[in-house]
Amino acid sequence: MTIYDLTKKELEEYFESNNEKKFRATQVYIWLYQKKAKSYQEMTDLKKETIALLEKDLPMTYIKTIKVEKDKDVNKYLFELEDKEHIEAVLMKHDYGNSICVSSQVGCNMGCKFCESGRRKKVRNLTAGEIVTQLLTIEEELKAKITHVVLMGIGEPFDNYNEIIKFIRIINDPKGLAIGSRHITISTSGIIPQIEEFSDFPLQVNLAISLHAPNNKLRDELMPINKAYPLEELINSVKKYVEKTNRRVTFEYILLKEINDTKECANQLVKLLKGINCYVNLIPYNETENIEYERSNMFQIMKFYDILKKNNINVTIRKEFGTKISAACGQLRSKKEEI
Ligand code: SAH
Ligand code: SF4
Repeated sequence: MTIYDLTKKELEEYFESNNEKKFRATQVYIWLYQKKAKSYQEMTDLKKETIALLEKDLPMTYIKTIKVEKDKDVNKYLFELEDKEHIEAVLMKHDYGNSICVSSQVGCNMGCKFCESGRRKKVRNLTAGEIVTQLLTIEEELKAKITHVVLMGIGEPFDNYNEIIKFIRIINDPKGLAIGSRHITISTSGIIPQIEEFSDFPLQVNLAISLHAPNNKLRDELMPINKAYPLEELINSVKKYVEKTNRRVTFEYILLKEINDTKECANQLVKLLKGINCYVNLIPYNETENIEYERSNMFQIMKFYDILKKNNINVTIRKEFGTKISAACGQLRSKKEEI
């Protein structure tokens, strides 16, 4: 357990159970997340005894940066954890701010056929602190504030539910990094029980669903998770989520050449999503050395886009970042480990 694993409420409870005042939690949060202190010794408004207590119980452990690749408006970071496992995060500089894509697990058990992260089975979940320090480390390197966060790196966030909920509470805290909930997005391959659970989460965080196929046959092939949670059940749970939360969801759809980019697929997708308050984000596939799928050409992408648009589906094509520096999730790590 490190200091970065604790929500402010948990830190308040910690202080209270150590006969300290609750407001110490706010002081520590300000030091950590606003003043970016790197040791308790810097926290000049704490008593010596409090500092000693914190040093003993809650180390300020960071992850280690072992590689940074930079392109025009994207940086990619490879990190090493205490147990020598590797994860990565990507920073994207937009005109509206700095957005980072963080990892939530070491590896991923979902095994999607097109995905580099899924080639390696899950080794373990990340702790909330390990996700928080991805963000802090990048802010430090960048010397600028991160304004947007997406949970779209290595791992399936809804397979690590409790830690990602803590992570969101920590970075959203007004006394800490104060990243607005509307600037935070979770992407899931479609784990229905957690979609339902998440509909009760009080913060207005965005939800993105990795759809990638408009029928069960194709989705079974691309995403094995579809066998556990088939398309019609997934769509039903998303409809319930939208009804309950009044939030618009995003469907992500990677375009794979001659696999899911046909006119027929586009029409099926229109039918599937009719009447749902949603966006579709079409993603040009980032080809990887170890996987056979190819990216659809721009002409095909535009044809697909037009069919959705004509049928009044809100659709965008994702701006591309960092194809040169292996920016799709899992690519940098797998190069490093040569798996
Ligand atoms: N596991 C979660 C979040 C991480 S993956 C999920 O699947 O939603 C984040 C997104 O990147 C997903 O939509 C995933 O399908 C997509 N992705 C994976 N490999 C990719 C690649 N090579 N090119 C483009 N997008 C990719
Ligand atoms: Fe896991 Fe997401 Fe990759 Fe699928 S796309 S293997 S769920 S990280």
